[in-house]
Order: sequence, then C-alpha cells, then structure tokens
Amino acid sequence: MWKNMGLTGKIIVAMVIGIILGLFINYSGLNAEGGFVHTYITNGFLAIVGKLFVNSLKMLVVPLVLISLICGVCGIGDIRLLGRIGSKTFFIYMMTTALAIATAIGLGIVFGIGKGMDIETEAAFEAESAPPLLDVFSNIIPSNPISAMANGDMLSIIFFAILIGISILMVGKPAKGLVQSLELINEVILKMVTIIMNLAPYGVFALLTKAMAELGLDLIWSLLGYVAVLVGSLAFHFFITMMIVLKLFSGLSIKTFLVKMREVQIFAFSTSSSNATIPITLRTVTKRMGVDNSVASFTVPFGATINMDGTAIMQGTATIFIANIYGIDLSVTDYLVVILMSVLASIGTAGVPGVGLIMLSMVFAQVGLPIEGIGLILGVDRILDMLRTAVNVGGDAAVTAIVAKSENKMDIAIYNDPDAGTKDVFDGHIDENNEREFSEVFSDGVMGSEYDDVDRRR
Ligand code: ASP
Repeated sequence: MWKNMGLTGKIIVAMVIGIILGLFINYSGLNAEGGFVHTYITNGFLAIVGKLFVNSLKMLVVPLVLISLICGVCGIGDIRLLGRIGSKTFFIYMMTTALAIATAIGLGIVFGIGKGMDIETEAAFEAESAPPLLDVFSNIIPSNPISAMANGDMLSIIFFAILIGISILMVGKPAKGLVQSLELINEVILKMVTIIMNLAPYGVFALLTKAMAELGLDLIWSLLGYVAVLVGSLAFHFFITMMIVLKLFSGLSIKTFLVKMREVQIFAFSTSSSNATIPITLRTVTKRMGVDNSVASFTVPFGATINMDGTAIMQGTATIFIANIYGIDLSVTDYLVVILMSVLASIGTAGVPGVGLIMLSMVFAQVGLPIEGIGLILGVDRILDMLRTAVNVGGDAAVTAIVAKSENKMDIAIYNDPDAGTKDVFDGHIDENNEREFSEVFSDGVMGSEYDDVDRRR
C-alpha cells in the first residue's frame, strides 16, 4: 500500500504517525531523561534523521535562490517591469501582514484573553536583540557576497542576484550561452529538490515524533485561552482572509490552492522554518501552480524573509495576553504601534525557528510591556512556531500567485491540473535514455576529443 501511495499521501501519513507516536512516547513517560528512548531514540536516531533532513533542505536554499533569481531577472528582461513586480509584492506582503496582526488584536480583545489569570512566570526570558532596522537596510548591499551567502543573508543574496541578472541583460546577446547554462543549473538544483522531497516522509516522521515526544501537549492546557485565540486567528487569517484576498485579486480556485499547498505547509510545520522550506515552496509554485520562475524566484525568498503573517499574529495575540495578565491598559495608539512594529520587525528578521520571540521583545519594548512576560508563553512557543510557520509560507505562496496572475506570468492550465508536478519523482533509478546519452557524450563527444588532444600532446 505504501508503495502505491502518492508522495503527498505518504507525507501526511508520516506526519500523523509521527505526532501520535511522539505523544505516546511523551505520555507513557518513555522519554524520561537518561532512559534508553530519550538517549538513543529521540535524541539519537530521530534527532540525526531530522537534522539530516533539515540540512538537506537548507543546503539547497542559497544556490537555488541565487541561480533561480538570476534566471528570473533575465526571464523578465525589463528592468522597469522588475521594479513594478518588486514594489507590488512588497506592498501586498506588508498589507497582508498588517491585516494578520489586526485580526489577532481584534480577536484577542473580543475574547479578553489573559484577563483575571494569575500565572507564575515559568522560565526567565533572555531577550535577544533583533538587528536594528538601519543595519537591515544598510546590509542589503553585501560588502562581501560570499560571506552573505555563507551566512544565508537572504536580502543581500537577493540584491546580488538581481544585480548579476541586470548586468547579464546589459551584456545582451553574447551572454545567451551563460543564461542557458544557468537555466540548466537551475533545473539541476530543482532535481535535487525532487530527490529530497522523496525523503520527506522519513524526515517529517523523525522531526514530528521527536518534537511531540519532547513537548507533549500538557502546557497547552494551562495556557488554553492564549493558544485557542492564537490558533483561531491563524486559521481565520489563512483560510478566510487570505483566501478572500486570493480570490478577489486573482480569481484563482481556492480549493486547488489549498490542496497544492499541503506539502509545503507540512514541510514548514515540521521544520519551523520558512527559509528551509524555500526550495519546496519554489518548486510547488512553479511546477505545480504554473507560476513563472521570473516572478516566483523573487517573491518566494523575499517572502520567506519579510512576510510573516503567522508570526505577526503571534505578536498581536501575545501583546493582548501579556498586557491583560499584567493589568496594563493599552491605548489605540499602542495598538497601532504594535501593528507598525510587527510589520517592520518582520522585514529585518529571517524565517528561522523561534525568531518570532525576538520580534516580540522588540514590540514589547516599544509599547512598554514587561519583556519577562514573554517567559509566560515560552513553553508553548515551540509548537505554535510550527503552526505559524505553516501560515507564513501560505502567505508567501498566495501573494506569489496573486502577483504572477496580475502580471500574466502564470500558466493557468498547470494551476488547474491536479497532477501537475507530481510525476517528477525520484525512485532511485535514472532514465535509461539519459544514461545512454551521457555515456555517448563522454566516450566520443566534445569532452572525449579534447582529452584525446591533451593526451597526444603529452
Ligand atoms: N519560524 C518562523 C518562520 O520561519 C518565524 C517565527 O515565527 O519564529 O517563518
């Protein structure tokens, strides 16, 4: 049965089994520190498999963003159009993030979360500082592109790639061969994504079993009000607000979008990282939804860095919750500051696990809420991080689809084809024709004759 199942089916089954098994390990007490399961299973085998999986995704992020974006810019071919797509994307990302946080604040106020609650801070929260906004802007141009790539500084990589793309366009015709080669490299990297996707069921299983075995769901009950409003706001924003926005501005089918997004969101959920999910998001929007690479190669990595609707929702809900617990009254101006700060903070911080808490301390500092209040929600944040990351990538893909559709850079036939992009799987075998052609190239092709020459000269 497993053999005949489609990849998405396998990933979903792996997710469900992982969650159930993890919770079983947690509640049965098997994960007690120092015990066999804790040492060799959750922190041994599962930790290794999970880490290998996340690493294999991260490994592809920088090369994929760099190469696909250079190809994307060359594909657009018109610098003014590039500027228009850029500013349109930025504007929609910011607007949807503001909508997200407004929803969270609204629901938080309606349900009065945290009012009359009396809980002890469980863990002290050490606020890590977020990069100052000025640095974020001045670092967009990297002084050393190699170190920007080594550090995965997404905005700098985006800048560098766009600059290369524009320069290639300026060189014009002679650079045609270069662009063709880059396009081939892009295809090769996407094949690597395909290979890794086929390992996803195992990776997702390992990550979720480990996470659930360690976290359990106990803490959620003690903070039920906070968790319920937060989860409700996340669901409302993604399933209602974003889907209305998608329908209104693109006319695309909501059902198709949601079905095709499932895999991406499971990846985001299990890795808690929009950045690590970039290869999957990019592959899905281009191969499964028909978005042209010229749009997606820019909007997806850009969104993973600056667009965090789910994280913004957490900022809004947490602000109301902590303010109520400490009995602090926030004014309308404070709420507006929270919205503005969350939107700005999302620009400067990358989509990696736990970054939402860093942004939250920035927001709290602005409106004068006690930073140590964050300690109250620390325990549940790991699980909520998974959920909000799924909403973050959902927003990136929805805006990508809207922008692509509005610019006529989308193949609707691919979008509407339920099987698009699902046939490209890796089952451990290489197409025999490809193998034969390659052996011919190497035995008597261009390379072969060149090497003959070298040999003769020796
Ligand atoms: N983990 C989130 C992301 O990668 C960011 C956060 O909310 O902590 O999008």
